[in-house]
Amino acid sequence: MNLKTLIFLILTFSLISSGLIGISSPAYAAHIYKQTLDVEVGGNIHAHPLIEDYLDKNSLNSRFDFNLEKGSHIYHLGSGKGKKILICGGIHGDEVQGSLTVVSMLYYLKSQEYTGTIYLIPFAIPIDTEKNTRYYNQSGNVYDPNRKSDIPGTPVNKILKFAISHKISYLIDVHSGIGVKEEGMVYYGNSFEENWAKNIQNNTGCVIKTNPTNGTLRSEASKRNIKAITLEVEKINQGVDVPVQTELNILKKACVYLRVI
Ligand SMILES: [Zn+2]
Repeated sequence: MNLKTLIFLILTFSLISSGLIGISSPAYAAHIYKQTLDVEVGGNIHAHPLIEDYLDKNSLNSRFDFNLEKGSHIYHLGSGKGKKILICGGIHGDEVQGSLTVVSMLYYLKSQEYTGTIYLIPFAIPIDTEKNTRYYNQSGNVYDPNRKSDIPGTPVNKILKFAISHKISYLIDVHSGIGVKEEGMVYYGNSFEENWAKNIQNNTGCVIKTNPTNGTLRSEASKRNIKAITLEVEKINQGVDVPVQTELNILKKACVYLRVI
């Protein structure tokens, strides 16, 4: 080895040691995996004009395959280690802002460094998004799916079971509602969730409320030791961009509090 090579090696090694040259690849590089979650709730989400307009306008159709006629999808991001977080949208099929917020988060995380493992369900019940309805029709039995997550065989119970079997620690359920203030709202239950919600409020100006309701994904997850909050923004039937941006900001702040982004 000549002197020039030796100096080059020493210089390179010291730059790597000092952190000026990175040698590890970022966490987001190649760890997105898509799985079918529930084959009974398949539907054509592109039939919903607000959804299709938003995906088209933001070039999101070309980036993700949201063909959900054969069932709902769950995206696994990360190594399977570290903090495990589940983010869910579309439990109420007529609350398109929630689904589009989770879609936007999925797109954001594709090019963002994060830690831990994040699971995302943009469209929990695609058939209800297609029909633009809050109520799920299970063989003629029509009900609010977010009041029966404790009943085996219901779509939201399958999400709850996934959360339990994958040892999820934190769950964020993303909705929209009539009469919600433009700054958005966060529902919480226990004291950890209250502190989580207060931190989000300090950073976004959103309203926070406690309203434990049996059968909701949030309350049933919380009973099973999964810390859970619900996000809401204004449900309006035109110009969804602003509420989606508001809810995406709340969702990001919720993840910042958990120190995953
Ligand atoms: Zn809802």
